[in-house]
Amino acid sequence: MFESIEAQALKESASAPLRSEFLQREFERLKTFSLLIYVVSIFMWLLFDLIVSFMGGQGFTWRSMVFLGVFGVLTLVLGFTRKAAHFDVLTVLLVLGLTVGVRMIVDGLPPAVHSSWLMLAAASLLYSVSVLPLRRWAFFAVQVVIWLVLNPFLGTSTEPGELRGVLTACYSVFLCALTLYAFLKFREARFSNYIMSRLLLDQAYNDPLTQIPNRRAFMTHAQQRLQAIPREYDHFLMMIDIDNFKKVNDTYGHDIGDEVLKRVAADIKTVMAEFDYARLGGEEFAIYLPAVRREDAAGLATELCRLVREQPAEHPVTISIGITRVEDGDTLNQALIRADSALYESKHTGKDRYTFHS
Ligand code: GH3
Ligand code: MG
Ligand code: MG
Repeated sequence: MFESIEAQALKESASAPLRSEFLQREFERLKTFSLLIYVVSIFMWLLFDLIVSFMGGQGFTWRSMVFLGVFGVLTLVLGFTRKAAHFDVLTVLLVLGLTVGVRMIVDGLPPAVHSSWLMLAAASLLYSVSVLPLRRWAFFAVQVVIWLVLNPFLGTSTEPGELRGVLTACYSVFLCALTLYAFLKFREARFSNYIMSRLLLDQAYNDPLTQIPNRRAFMTHAQQRLQAIPREYDHFLMMIDIDNFKKVNDTYGHDIGDEVLKRVAADIKTVMAEFDYARLGGEEFAIYLPAVRREDAAGLATELCRLVREQPAEHPVTISIGITRVEDGDTLNQALIRADSALYESKHTGKDRYTFHS
């Protein structure tokens, strides 16, 4: 059963914007790892360059310094890169630089071993790049660059028809197919995981009826705000309850009651867009207002009562609000209890109003 639910959920959620959000998140999570891959790849290139330069008697020339400089700049730019799309371009450029650099090192070796070292370099580069959080186009571009510049038949003594050539060709095809398949398969698996965890978080922290955050989300966010230090301005907590809601349900039915709940939630969203709001349960809502003045909290409460009351709806309702200042050292529950008692006050002094806890 879970398999079919999962398959359905994946089918419904796998949209293009979600995919690009996933790639951005992947890049953010793996940025340090990507930097490490850059540095290790450059280090390996430098090591081989030094060995061939000194042991091979080629000498360490200005060209090596230029390559090193370019690689250093690309790594530095990656340190400041925030967008996954820019990382794709940087990686293609780095691979281009590394492959050309490798080609020049290999040219300093005896011709008989050229194609073997080109294959080794291609395999190492392909493996390193296949674990990076790249978009598909960038990985395909990297494959093209690697096979063009490090082609073991290009500028070497290896002929496609001879034994060494056939073996080289077979290994190249195997390597290309394996890295492509692994890259695409792992990418797809990670994308599925991303979709499923987003879906689960969405269901755990959002109210399915009103599509606004639920009690769990509110407790988490409000707790974070409450503990924010230093607290330069006052914080307020509001509790909201729809007036005579039972009557709405009893007179028009539960479905109309649900419509009213959605409408009030939408009004709260409109007026309190910049604050943390939630449906706590039933027809009760809460809002946390950090860093506001008392008159601002009162103004927002007045505006919300007015918007709900004057909504041109078939089944009009009103709401009552209780507000409390969040004191230093308060727990969230203590503040909620005080807001609830202020709400009780609003209910008992005529409803459709707000009351500050005294
Ligand atoms: P008061 O003005 O004092 O608040 O009176 P009230 O009738 O609104 O009383 P109360 O707040 O206790 O009403 C809660 C009602 O909300 C009871 C329940 O039937 C209804 N309710 C709770 N959850 C839902 C829901 O998800 N959908 C619908 N339609 N009704 C709900
Ligand atoms: Mg109630
Ligand atoms: Mg009520």
